[in-house]
Amino acid sequence: MAKQNKTESWEYAPSLEGTSHIQLKKKYDLFIDGKWVKPTSGKYFSSINPANEELLAEVAHANEADVDLAVKAARKAYNNVWSKMAPLERAKYIYRIARLMQERAREFAVIESLDAGKTIRESRDIDVPLACNHFFYYAGWADKLEYAFPNRKVESLGVAGQIIPWNFPLLMAAWKIAPALATGNTVVLKPAETTSLTALKLAEIIEESGLPAGVVNIVTGYGDTGAAIVNHPDVNKIAFTGSTAVGKIIQKAIAGTTKKSTLELGGKSANIIFDDAPIDQAVEGIVNGIFFNQGHVCCAGSRLFVQENIADKVIRKLKQRMESLYVGNPLDKNTDIGAINSKEQLETINKYIQIGKNEGAEIYQTKCDLPKKGYYCPPTIFTNVAQSNIIAQEEIFGPVLTIQTFRTVDEVIQKANNSPYGLAAGVWTDKGSRIFNLTTKLRAGVVWANTYNKFDPTSPFGGYKESGFGREGGLHGLNAYVKLN
Ligand code: ADP
Repeated sequence: MAKQNKTESWEYAPSLEGTSHIQLKKKYDLFIDGKWVKPTSGKYFSSINPANEELLAEVAHANEADVDLAVKAARKAYNNVWSKMAPLERAKYIYRIARLMQERAREFAVIESLDAGKTIRESRDIDVPLACNHFFYYAGWADKLEYAFPNRKVESLGVAGQIIPWNFPLLMAAWKIAPALATGNTVVLKPAETTSLTALKLAEIIEESGLPAGVVNIVTGYGDTGAAIVNHPDVNKIAFTGSTAVGKIIQKAIAGTTKKSTLELGGKSANIIFDDAPIDQAVEGIVNGIFFNQGHVCCAGSRLFVQENIADKVIRKLKQRMESLYVGNPLDKNTDIGAINSKEQLETINKYIQIGKNEGAEIYQTKCDLPKKGYYCPPTIFTNVAQSNIIAQEEIFGPVLTIQTFRTVDEVIQKANNSPYGLAAGVWTDKGSRIFNLTTKLRAGVVWANTYNKFDPTSPFGGYKESGFGREGGLHGLNAYVKLN
């Protein structure tokens, strides 16, 4: 645990979550057609713990031939079993997966923290319960599709290829798999290369649930494995969450094909504080929006806009709060900010911090000692930021916040919308009419009012502009996996 230098912050005794109850294999094969199969190339890569750089497991690297086997298994399962099964029966399997996940929630949470570097508080209280709830929620829809789409004939699409990132590994798998299964599709899913382990644990649960072989296939690997899924001619739909750069590659690759797609890409979301906002709550909202989960949230509130007359007060309170944040071992229940997901990501974040300094913005970082091993970044804010600065325009994906001020509502709307992205936004004010005004004018998929980073399976999520298209979650999330006649 990194000790805070500030004497006014409490020193907590370490409270480490145990790891003795988790079961991790030394080596993971591919989960194809209900069986664990070796990769045809014989290649494996290492999944390491970013908090201490120790090896957690070796994971199979799937190539085109393996992806082809997975797609064939998914097609066979779709044609012979899953598309023919009564929706009520499909729902039972999805419920079963949700319950099994719940039973092993603690194991999932610990593995997620080990593999992704996120704090145990976050994986235990947010990632895993939300992932279970997604399965519960979509299990409920499976036999009610005619109510979701009244007077329409609902058909499934076929085989869904799903590619997910490393920031919410299990949750993103749940977001993708649950609605696909509920609507009668089969799945080939690829987790991100740095965070495959909870998806592989999910495969074990899927096996235990008795889900018919081939309905869900999990193939691990790098970008080449993802590309093999995208380019496979027998995949009917691509669901991708990741960077805008890869999203554009995928768009190009599937142009002119009949493949449907939903893309959930990057963000540079605005968190807007008006002078009538409850300031202490807003400061908590800022911290929650950008520092928790190390800023590894695509909808992170990474651009803060504070009304000019309260800017000094908000920044002073924010700095005070930052000094009380614990950076360190993700498995310690006191930790607020865990490890950055990978060495590469830490390098990217540090590159942007240097860019911010070079651009003339004023930096403030808390002065905590970071652990000697592992990848860590202290909470960082930049003031004196210009709208055109790179740090205010590009996604950093780390605990780095830019702060700008504004005077009028129109000015902040213009500034907040001046971004190629449009994933989310936050508005803090006591005035209801102002909230409604901003929600209609901010070009963002989600606008939170007097809160930030709140998720629920019933609520749709997705972006505007370069943040992608299509919605996941809620009734809208079903749309992405059906053909309506
Ligand atoms: P991030 O910046 O969040 O790591 P990426 O877009 O690089 O986002 O990665 C998200 C997912 O996309 C990962 O599972 C990664 O392996 C996969 N991926 C990377 N390159 C490609 C590609 N060219 N085609 C398909 N998937 C890819």
